[in-house]
Amino acid sequence: KYVLHNEHIISADDAKVEMNDRGYHFGDGIYEVIRIYNSKPFTMDEHLNRLIESANKLDLNLQITKETLENLINKLVEKNELTDGMVYIQMTRGVSPRNHLYHRTENPILSGFTQKLSTQENQTKQKQGISAWVTDDIRWLRCDIKSINLLGNVIAKREAADHHCQEAILHRDGMITEGSSSNLFLVKDQTLYTHPATNLILNGITRQIVLKLAKSLQFEMVEEAFPKDVIEHADEAFITSTTMEVMPIIEFKGGVKTSLKIGPITEKLQDAFQHYKNDGLST
Ligand code: PLP
Repeated sequence: KYVLHNEHIISADDAKVEMNDRGYHFGDGIYEVIRIYNSKPFTMDEHLNRLIESANKLDLNLQITKETLENLINKLVEKNELTDGMVYIQMTRGVSPRNHLYHRTENPILSGFTQKLSTQENQTKQKQGISAWVTDDIRWLRCDIKSINLLGNVIAKREAADHHCQEAILHRDGMITEGSSSNLFLVKDQTLYTHPATNLILNGITRQIVLKLAKSLQFEMVEEAFPKDVIEHADEAFITSTTMEVMPIIEFKGGVKTSLKIGPITEKLQDAFQHYKNDGLST
């Protein structure tokens, strides 16, 4: 197994992390998760653009070009002979003695690894749907940055699992934002509803693809925040993410209680997504 360390692909056994990495002290870093289908990175350009955006928003000087990153990711996938799975890449602000103040002279540290994922398992789950736990969004106000600082998300995910749910759906003062590691969509009267891409959510790459597919399928779309109680009146609900793709929700528990069936619009979008994976936007 190989991993990425700065601009080198090295054996995982030789990889080490620095005690004074600001990633450890402050969670001062950013990351991306890129899906690999048939040995090829999916929407890598979009993910790397978002990484660059996250870096800019945090005044973090990447010091590496998108092309170099692309080459390194491709090489890592090849060396690890990964067919189905994901690449995780992380960039921390660098190594310096612990001090809240950063100096812009630190050199960012890039690291990355691959993980296998089972497409089969995921598609089985997509036919069954999952349960979601509705809880408070206790995160900070810059959820648009894909920061490695994920405590609010981690706490919510554990809470969901403790209630036998596979995802936590978050609300801020009663208004639904997103999932702990996904974006939420509701369907009501043939119209799709999702939170707008503000500072309160991560603008998911899968979310953006689904909006594009929905547009080409001529569904109505409303990007507006909605109160959590609206979920009780929804016809369908699903979440989107790089690893889960388009995942139906069949039950909400916690802050909202309701059961749903996997509906025709969710199924159409699941289908469209599978086509998009293989051929791009052709409809
Ligand atoms: N929202 C949050 C908080 C996430 O962590 C993620 C992905 O991990 C998403 C949304 C979905 O983003 P994407 O579709 O780019 O994977």
